[in-house]
Amino acid sequence: MSDCIFCKIISGDIPSAKVYEDDKIFAFKDINPQAAVHFLVVPKTHIGSADEVDEANSDCVAHIFKKIPVIAKSVGIKNGYRVITNCGPDACQSVKHLHFHVLGGEQLSEKMA
Ligand code: 5GP
Ligand code: ZN
Repeated sequence: MSDCIFCKIISGDIPSAKVYEDDKIFAFKDINPQAAVHFLVVPKTHIGSADEVDEANSDCVAHIFKKIPVIAKSVGIKNGYRVITNCGPDACQSVKHLHFHVLGGEQLSEKMA
């Protein structure tokens, strides 16, 4: 999608601090970190949100969850992490390209919302 920030990050048109890439997914540090370690994992295919995941495109989601433990270790997370995806207006989703926040590197709050 030509007007999507994360599609531009994947293509390299917008610079990012990449932590992982393969043929299906891209992971990079969040520009406004909410924890000691905070990176985002996105499918290279544009999917608007978790609400648009379906039979035809869900393979990349399984792949993302296979790679999150590998990426988390590679960036030094040792004692657990939180995976979040905001979906739609009530969840304050600001970028309309499916992404998983991975937060860790410190003790996180018990509260999730
Ligand atoms: P959302 O609110 O949609 O769940 O999360 C979007 C996330 O993308 C936010 O945490 C925000 O800081 C991050 N973000 C927005 N624009 C950029 C950018 O240009 N580069 C990077 N690295 N992160 C971004
Ligand atoms: Zn996109």
